Amino acid sequence: MSKIKIRIVILGHIPHSLNIQKVQNWKSDLFEILSPIDTVNIVGDSDGFEWEFLDENMERQLPVRNGADVLIGVTNVPIQNNYFARRYSDNRVCMTYSTMTDILKYDNIPLENLLLRVIYSVSFVYRRYGNRIPLISESTNFAHDETRGCIFDMNGIKTDVIYSLNKPQLCDSCINTLTNIPQYKVGKNVIAKVQSELKGIKKGLYYRITDLLKKHPIPAIIFSSIFAITLGVIGSTIGRLLWELWIKHWL
Ligand SMILES: [Zn+2]
Repeated sequence: MSKIKIRIVILGHIPHSLNIQKVQNWKSDLFEILSPIDTVNIVGDSDGFEWEFLDENMERQLPVRNGADVLIGVTNVPIQNNYFARRYSDNRVCMTYSTMTDILKYDNIPLENLLLRVIYSVSFVYRRYGNRIPLISESTNFAHDETRGCIFDMNGIKTDVIYSLNKPQLCDSCINTLTNIPQYKVGKNVIAKVQSELKGIKKGLYYRITDLLKKHPIPAIIFSSIFAITLGVIGSTIGRLLWELWIKHWL
């Protein structure tokens, strides 16, 4: 099965540090990110009561796919119904960092993890619906309300998104669905490869270590005490040897 061609477009100004190069260089058996990742302006203002861009407005902001299978617009403005991703016509999706950045930064999650999760879920949706993204008006059931650390978590409570942005997965129910759709079944080898790729969507090493220490405080205290004592013994041994072999002969 050929890879899904994804075109990413930055829509307007992203006021914080998004390492888009990391996303550009991401390797997957499921999709490929087309180059270059372009930036286009947002024209006009919001038209919602909560300063959000309603669907018709956002439809006009998104550029055409230009040869890609799916276009994903990445923005920082709020979109309709306070969603962090919405589907539009002609296989186009928009994802926003509005209100999401604070949630991600509070839990030390790289901003790119959210975009990567959206790319994986959008790619599977594209396959599941026969190589097309269903319109927002279509009834769909690919997401589940329960938070399982799965890329198809609905995240109605937005802060729950953190559970699917550090080594996320496809849950058993989603795997079962994807591999049993008449006509559009996804191969088990692709599922296995993607499960492995998803493990690469994770926090930085420092924050993974601090998370581990917070999770197991007593072993952490014991280990750091043993480490400090060992370091002290090694230091005093080196000091004694230096004194015996070198320093005392100079005095
Ligand atoms: Zn799932």
